[in-house]
Amino acid sequence: MRVIVLGAGIIGTASAWFLNKAGHAVSVIERQPGAAQETSFANGCQISVSHAEPWANPAAPLKILKWLGREDAPLLYRFRPEWLQWRWGLAFLRECMPARTIDNMRRIVAIAEYSRQTLQAVRAETGIDYDHLTRGILHFYTDRKEFDHSLAAAKLMREFGCPRTSISADEVVRIEPALAGLRDRIVGGDFTASDESGDVYKFTTGLAKKAGEAGVDFRFGTTVTRLLTEGTGASAKISGVEVIDAHGVHRVLRADAFVVAAGSFSVALIKPLGLDLMIYPGKGYSATYAVTDPAAAPTVSLTDDGYKLVVSRLGERLRVAGTCELNGYTRELNRTRCEAITRRTRELFPDACDYDNPAYWAGLRPLTPSNVPYIGKTGYANLFLNTGHGTLGWTMGCGSGRAIAEIISGHTPDVDFAFTRLPRRRRPLPAARAAQA
Ligand SMILES: Cc1cc2nc3c(=O)[nH]c(=O)nc-3n(C[C@H](O)[C@H](O)[C@H](O)COP(=O)(O)OP(=O)(O)OC[C@H]3O[C@@H](n4cnc5c(N)ncnc54)[C@H](O)[C@@H]3O)c2cc1C
Repeated sequence: MRVIVLGAGIIGTASAWFLNKAGHAVSVIERQPGAAQETSFANGCQISVSHAEPWANPAAPLKILKWLGREDAPLLYRFRPEWLQWRWGLAFLRECMPARTIDNMRRIVAIAEYSRQTLQAVRAETGIDYDHLTRGILHFYTDRKEFDHSLAAAKLMREFGCPRTSISADEVVRIEPALAGLRDRIVGGDFTASDESGDVYKFTTGLAKKAGEAGVDFRFGTTVTRLLTEGTGASAKISGVEVIDAHGVHRVLRADAFVVAAGSFSVALIKPLGLDLMIYPGKGYSATYAVTDPAAAPTVSLTDDGYKLVVSRLGERLRVAGTCELNGYTRELNRTRCEAITRRTRELFPDACDYDNPAYWAGLRPLTPSNVPYIGKTGYANLFLNTGHGTLGWTMGCGSGRAIAEIISGHTPDVDFAFTRLPRRRRPLPAARAAQA
């Protein structure tokens, strides 16, 4: 089959890799000049099955209310006159119900575990160098109430098969001695030895290069302007994608199947077809520092619960990422939020890095209310989704790519996950009818 993948972030690139391995002729359309230039560029770099507890959980609504209007809040909801944001907010509240949270956790653990194993296999096969470390993820707490809450979550995670172990403050410092200066404030932690870290950009660009050598046709600098349809009812399908290339030339590309992997921008691409994705962009920040004293910088990937920041050592660099702002598609860097990251990192590891020359970055997490991604089929026979990976796209990336390749090839992926079947609205928007070709 000939397959076109829309988007070359970690999700689109992993999809292309596995589709190629399954014997399909694959093209990837990407508006940027290379792979992984948007959300998969400078994230927290954790492969964290242990973070399967979604943001939508019973404790979330109260916390978000408390944080409203605070410029340095870990999660900031800026109200906008925007229908999608309000619908998304209501759906998020529904996912905070205890039973929904537990079910979402179970599904996320399943796909994330499958994905981590898949990543390990790809690493062994390709030898891609991405500054990875297999030293686990250590989550530490400075608030007694938050730590007590984490005990139940860790127990649940163990029941779902993720070995997240609750530990004492002394054990936290034994596992990561760079945290010794904070010992008196840490009240406990949890450790997941099987989790990993590594540079998502280096991995994705490395995989794109290998995929290109294996025959995948990457069309960089090319923007998808719309999807074209043919047929009606059950026989409706996608006939092609209209693109504009780097020279401003419009053309239509045809294929047997199409995969939407355009992150937060997937929503607008398929809305005219009568397909409603509940994805809202969650702006997050990262700061990257040059390590000046390797012994003072952590090597175990960390999660600082109080500040909702994650820390990953990438060779001679330290990446610190976190916070979320629900405020449309802007990627503008807010100074207050950037400086809050540097202040906290300097407090944790005062002598480890050059804090005077940080590289700040912002990206848009494609957030579903449940943090469960859309992977699977749609109401158009040959249109598939691989999007909405929210806070865990790097963690779930390789597994999602492998799963969509299995589905397109007519097989059932070997993972206990409810794959998507997104129906069409009964009355597509007028724009969809206009897109018939
Ligand atoms: C601050 C921060 C920290 C994070 N930390 C972690 C972490 O530690 N671990 C983890 O697992 N996840 C983390 N994430 C989440 C993770 O980065 C994302 O889930 C993941 O990168 C999403 O990948 P994607 O391929 O879906 O989207 P993207 O990487 O955004 O890729 C989508 C691609 O589609 C292209 N595109 C869009 N529209 C078009 C169009 N019309 N035509 C052509 N191309 C188009 C874009 O240019 C882009 O390259 C973090 C995210 C943020 C913001």
